[in-house]
Amino acid sequence: MSKRRITKQQQRRIKARQDSHIDDEQGLNEPGLVVAHHGTGVTVEDQDGHRRHCKLRQHLGIIVAGDEVMWQRQGQTGGVVTALCERKSVLTRPDARGVNRPIAANIDKMLIVLAPEPCASSLLIDSYLVAAETLGIEPCLVLNKCDLAPLIREQKLDTLLTSYEQLNYTVVEVSAHEGSGIDHLQSVLKNHTSVFVGQSGVGKSSLIATFLPHATIAVGALTDKQRLGKHTTSRAELYHLNKNARLIDSPGIREFNLWKMTPAEIAEAFIDFKPFLGQCKFRDCRHVSEPQCAIHQACKDGLIQPSRYQNYLSLIG
Ligand code: GDP
Ligand code: ZN
Repeated sequence: MSKRRITKQQQRRIKARQDSHIDDEQGLNEPGLVVAHHGTGVTVEDQDGHRRHCKLRQHLGIIVAGDEVMWQRQGQTGGVVTALCERKSVLTRPDARGVNRPIAANIDKMLIVLAPEPCASSLLIDSYLVAAETLGIEPCLVLNKCDLAPLIREQKLDTLLTSYEQLNYTVVEVSAHEGSGIDHLQSVLKNHTSVFVGQSGVGKSSLIATFLPHATIAVGALTDKQRLGKHTTSRAELYHLNKNARLIDSPGIREFNLWKMTPAEIAEAFIDFKPFLGQCKFRDCRHVSEPQCAIHQACKDGLIQPSRYQNYLSLIG
C-alpha cells in the first residue's frame, strides 16, 4: 500500500482552513497552550486555564510543552489540536537514532544554576551560554547555596561571576535553604517561560520547589517537592508559577547538554567575540593558530578573557 501523501495544493487548502479558524466540521478553533505531551496526545490549557486531553491531527508533527496551538472541543472533556502556531524557540534533543526532536517550545529564559558544591565549571557555564545564545533564549546565571560564603570565596566564584556581569549577563545570587535572593529570582522569572538547567546537585529542584506553591500545580502529576525532584518521566511539562511566570521542566531539560556544533557556530555564540568576527585574515579561520587572527589579537589586547578563549577551544574540540 502506498503511503498517504498530501499534495502541495492540499497543504495550501489545509493551511487556509486553519487560518480561517473554521475547519471541515465547522468546529470553532480556539487558541490554547500545550502543558504536557502524552503518548496519545497533549494536554491543552484553554484561555480560562482549564485543561483538556486533546488528540492531534495527523499532519502536525511533534507538539511539545510550551507550544501555542489552535484546538477544537470534542465532547465534555476532550478535544483535537488542529494547528500549531509558529514557535519563537524550540529546545531539541537527539533521540536514540541521533535525530534531533523537539522537547519544549517557546522558552525565552534559561536559568543556568551553579553552586560552590558541586564545584562550578566555567566550561559548563560557557557551554550553556552558547546553547542559549544559539537558540535565542535569554540566559541568566543563578548562583545557589550563597549560605556557603567561605566556599564561594575559596573557589573565587564571585570573581568568575563578576566577569560574566561584565559581559552583560545577569547574575542572581540565591540560597534555596535560607530564602535569600528568591524575590530577585522571582522578578527575573516574571512574564517569561523559563527552564532551569545545570549540574545535578546544584539545587535546581530545591529552587523550583520554592516557586511551585501547591495551588498552582494543576496537572496533578507532581504534588510535592520530593516527587518533583524524583519524577522519572522525561517528557517536559509546563507549570504556572507566581507572578505570571511559566516554567517548563523535565529531568532531560535540567541536564540538557550542548549538541554538536561547528566552530563557526560556537564562535558566533561567544558574545565577546562578536566585534572581531569577520576580521581575521582567513575567512574560514577557526581562531586556533592561524596567522593574523582577530580573536587571537583581541585576547592579547585583553579584550577577550583568557578563560573564555580557552573554553572556546575546548568546545570546538
Ligand atoms: P538538583 O540536583 O540540582 O535538583 O539539586 P537538589 O535541589 O536536589 O539539591 C542538591 C543538594 O543541595 C540537596 O542536598 C539540597 O538540600 C542542597 N541544597 C539545595 N539548595 C541549597 C542551598 O541553598 N544551600 C545549601 N547549603 N544546600 C542546598
Ligand atoms: Zn581567527
